[in-house]
Amino acid sequence: MSNSILVIGGGFAGITAAVEAAEMGHDVYIVEREDYLGGRVAQLNKYFPKLCPPTCGLEINFKRIRTNPRITFYTRAAVESISGGPGDYSVKVKVEPKYTTPACTNCKPGQAAATTEVPNEFNFGMDTRKGIYLAHPMAFPNQCVIDPKIAGTDEAKAIADAMPAGLVDLSQQPETVELNVGAVIVATGWKPYDPTRMDNLGFGKVDNVVTNMMVERMASPSGPTEGKIVRPSDKEEPKTIGFVQCAGSRDENHLPYCSYICCMATLKQIRYIREQMPEAEVYVFYIDIRSPGRKYEKFYKAVKEDEKVHFIKGKVAEVRPGSEPGSVVLVAEDTVGGGRVEQQVDLAVLATGMQPTGAEVKIAGIDYDEDGFVVPKEGIIPCGCAKRPVDVVSSAQSATAAALKAVQTVVRRAG
Ligand code: SF4
Repeated sequence: MSNSILVIGGGFAGITAAVEAAEMGHDVYIVEREDYLGGRVAQLNKYFPKLCPPTCGLEINFKRIRTNPRITFYTRAAVESISGGPGDYSVKVKVEPKYTTPACTNCKPGQAAATTEVPNEFNFGMDTRKGIYLAHPMAFPNQCVIDPKIAGTDEAKAIADAMPAGLVDLSQQPETVELNVGAVIVATGWKPYDPTRMDNLGFGKVDNVVTNMMVERMASPSGPTEGKIVRPSDKEEPKTIGFVQCAGSRDENHLPYCSYICCMATLKQIRYIREQMPEAEVYVFYIDIRSPGRKYEKFYKAVKEDEKVHFIKGKVAEVRPGSEPGSVVLVAEDTVGGGRVEQQVDLAVLATGMQPTGAEVKIAGIDYDEDGFVVPKEGIIPCGCAKRPVDVVSSAQSATAAALKAVQTVVRRAG
């Protein structure tokens, strides 16, 4: 029987669960597939309830991780298999090489020697990155990495030669780590629903159609536009912006559930727009606006009072290019005002929903429902968006509850 706990996923839920379990006296392992901890929250400009930047919540938890010897974490790593049962699981973790050492915190010399650039996935392809890079300025651990796609090429050798000695190690190989744990917390998080799957909403086909997560990156001071929300086609400030709610969610052909966060994300992004562009007109096409709880409802009310924000109750059926260069037309039936609405805007934002990581990446030994959410069972405890769509606050609360359940499992089994 093992007293240790495995946390799969190092996003906000995963690191919260890990810190809580470790502070209750248990050894904890975090396995994260990205090169950094922090997950989706690290990509946000600001988050509810206080609309503070991600550094607020993440830095505190990173400090708790740094100072707690009970926590071990693996990044660029994935759980390959889980066997055994509550109290005694054997877990195989594959850790991919980063081709750098932890001392590699400045890769500018290597970037100068790099020859290829690829779309930067952290910024949803709105800019590019080199083959050696730091995923984002507050990445934890603060270690530059080499893209595995260029490992073994002449470009990787040129990068290694340009970097100070001891920082790049192209001889690194994948490693398999075997862990024995008593309980598994699954905090594998979510990804934005692929907007190209909705043929009628124009993403990738019509200029200036972006997603809500792209707006978060644009609004972030460390993002591709250094905090400015602009039209991708000409980098101009949009004078009219249209939000398309439930883009993929509450739709049997896509995500059959409400994604919980996208109404509040839109209301928050209207606040960003209002701060940057006081004269901009905003149009929100919605089925229902979901603003659960007292604080969120108050926030919604405040946005509704803004005379430059127009709410149109109607599901967008079509997105097509408009008559002005770079403009976009949103077509919907107005179910309150009546009639067909064709609203031309400079920028359209799809409020895409959340799809659990488990919809695409399944781990043997874990049970999933038909949408990819993790089904709990004794010893395997999901939290955050691996369990159901939630906001950051609810995610942290469910992570704390998961830590307690994991501790109860190992204590009960040990006794
Ligand atoms: Fe639609 Fe709002 Fe639910 Fe998102 S939160 S799926 S936009 S109702």
